[in-house]
Amino acid sequence: MVEFIIDDPAYGDDEKLAVAVGLSITFRQALVKARPSREALEAAKESVWGALLISPCPPNLPCFNDVEKAVDHSEIFSTPVGYEGPTPAATRRRVSTFNKHYMKPWRWAREGEKPEVGHRLLPLMACLFRELKTLDAVPIVVSDVRLQPNTTPPPDYMVVPTSHAVSEVAEIVDVYLPPLKAGALALGILTGGYKAGPVVALVKTRDYATQRLIEMGGYAVVLDEPGDPCNLFRSRVAGYSYEKRLYTVNPALCDKCGDCLKTACPAIAPSHAGAPQILPTCTGCGACALVCTRGAIQ
Ligand code: SF4
Ligand code: SF4
Repeated sequence: MVEFIIDDPAYGDDEKLAVAVGLSITFRQALVKARPSREALEAAKESVWGALLISPCPPNLPCFNDVEKAVDHSEIFSTPVGYEGPTPAATRRRVSTFNKHYMKPWRWAREGEKPEVGHRLLPLMACLFRELKTLDAVPIVVSDVRLQPNTTPPPDYMVVPTSHAVSEVAEIVDVYLPPLKAGALALGILTGGYKAGPVVALVKTRDYATQRLIEMGGYAVVLDEPGDPCNLFRSRVAGYSYEKRLYTVNPALCDKCGDCLKTACPAIAPSHAGAPQILPTCTGCGACALVCTRGAIQ
């Protein structure tokens, strides 16, 4: 028995697979009719939680003609499988009990290969951090980009329910599975019934899946469109523009809460004087100022 059959010709084969992976992340059972690329298949192997069936059978995956056996094998071994039996009728039979804290440790977007990429995105992440941390919800953020970590080694999160609180901006991103696109993954997660909070996709370009995500009630930040990412929760979709300014900390306004340090920016540091200090390496991205609720970074 499968709950979703993904066969919409409006999507490319890798996009269809990404939607199916998003569904699987929410413990759904999906059959995708596609011939995904080898790279996309490799990424899909990282995040199978429900059942993920692919038809026709890709090479190097177990292949089944019986849908029940295919679903069982995929769920038991947390792996995508091939399926070449008759197309089953899709039935809804489960309520998703997905908790995002079940996700495997590599969900955290860390170890950026290009530090400057993570740094350039700090203002965007600061906006999301500020917007999301005020919500009485558990948002899930799927990204096409990876951020620079602050802590080494990264925390070893267990695959158990936790109430882990985000402590730095880079931790906001939950899912990063290139080349699977964030818009399609997020669409799958939303369709799979994730209701604990907003589903947010950080995408490089707006595509069909991202548009569907927004129509269904998800949120998107489009990295190649101009705009203010802090508008996200007002309009459900926001562009992102990078603007350089010069910043300093006003010690008279600073209450030493430390939120600005959670941006993980290498150019802002604690100081003996109490208020954080902005170093000469500051690029003026403004992320710390967006995070500071006291207006102390100007
Ligand atoms: S976020 Fe603002 S108030 Fe808090 S430590 Fe940084 S500068 Fe001070
Ligand atoms: S210290 Fe400078 S570079 Fe770092 S977040 Fe603040 S404005 Fe951006």
